Amino acid sequence: MKVELQNLTKIFPSRNKKVGGEVVAVNNFTFTIPDGKLVGLLGPSGCGKSTTLYMISGLQKPSSGKIFFGDEDVTELSPENRGIGLVFQNYALYPHLTVKQNILFPLQNLRGKDRMTKEEMLARALEAAKLVQIDELMDRKPSELSGGQQQRVAIARALVKMPRVLLLDEPLSNLDARLRLQTREEIRRIQKETGITTVFVTHDQEEAMSISDVIVVMKLGVVQQVGKPQEIYDDPTNLFVAKFLGTPPINVFTGRVEGGKLYIGENAVMNVKGVEDRAVTVAIRPEGFTLAENGPFVCELSNVEVMGRDVSVVSRHEASLNPVVRSIINADNKVDVSSATVSYELKPHKVFLFDAETEERIYFEV
Ligand code: ADP
Ligand code: MG
Repeated sequence: MKVELQNLTKIFPSRNKKVGGEVVAVNNFTFTIPDGKLVGLLGPSGCGKSTTLYMISGLQKPSSGKIFFGDEDVTELSPENRGIGLVFQNYALYPHLTVKQNILFPLQNLRGKDRMTKEEMLARALEAAKLVQIDELMDRKPSELSGGQQQRVAIARALVKMPRVLLLDEPLSNLDARLRLQTREEIRRIQKETGITTVFVTHDQEEAMSISDVIVVMKLGVVQQVGKPQEIYDDPTNLFVAKFLGTPPINVFTGRVEGGKLYIGENAVMNVKGVEDRAVTVAIRPEGFTLAENGPFVCELSNVEVMGRDVSVVSRHEASLNPVVRSIINADNKVDVSSATVSYELKPHKVFLFDAETEERIYFEV
């Protein structure tokens, strides 16, 4: 099911009574979620991800704008009539019901033509349980399950009505690191198997990158960039997006362009054809540095951390806007740890320039 969001806006009266006024939680959000794809809604806390998801679900009504499921305008439809499955961070299972009863619950409330026989319901519930691999646990209560198992039950409950659209709001946030990874792979598998159009909300860039067909990056209610994970990583549209994606984070410097050369500090570090003389903010991915004895980009060496296949070189530079400069180098290249400095050449496709004021991207010819 294709989902179309047209100029979605949600304005709340401010929660802060003293300040008063309004909060634009979601600002003119236009996007089409392709049929059968998993879209990651990514951004920091408070950027409007949940509000967007709740508008798609029908739990919240947009202040303006429209929502279509396929060709059907669902903007005024109640959540029950939209054919959605919702999963929250805190599972929200009924504690006094067994796993089976929890999964059956949405089916028991179907009325009219959707009503099912007991046998049909049981078959459906078992099918959903098998899909998320909890069919062995049907008679347990939620309190007898791990967090990961509880979240699987919540996903089964969301899937049992065979929703047109599956909506997940930070579903992995309450799980520990290992379970988070495992459950995220599960969700991806289930989504692929069922082909249900899915929106996955997260503030975790790594999670969004690994699970999504398409990522929508948001900031303060406004969409910043839409694209495949790798496209956004390789070609960020502004400094916010460049900084939000990637671990370790991107290195940021003040710099300037003069005569087609990029200066960071005193040194010209790279050619940047096609950019007029100006002040810029420079962002360099950790993998954008090549060790080079007489390389133009010279940092004060602090520390070398071995990470197996790679080493992480921690250094300092006067023009850095981050506390340290972090580069990731293949472990075959030896860093002279006794040296006070480390010198690099830069990989042009890993270096991004931004307007120092607007933080919008400035493109150069390589
Ligand atoms: P996210 O899920 O990305 O953390 P939300 O969608 O929950 O962000 O919130 C977006 C903004 O809207 C925040 O500034 C939040 O404080 C505000 N907001 C959300 N819900 C309400 C509400 N019911 N009343 C007032 N403000 C709200
Ligand atoms: Mg939220």
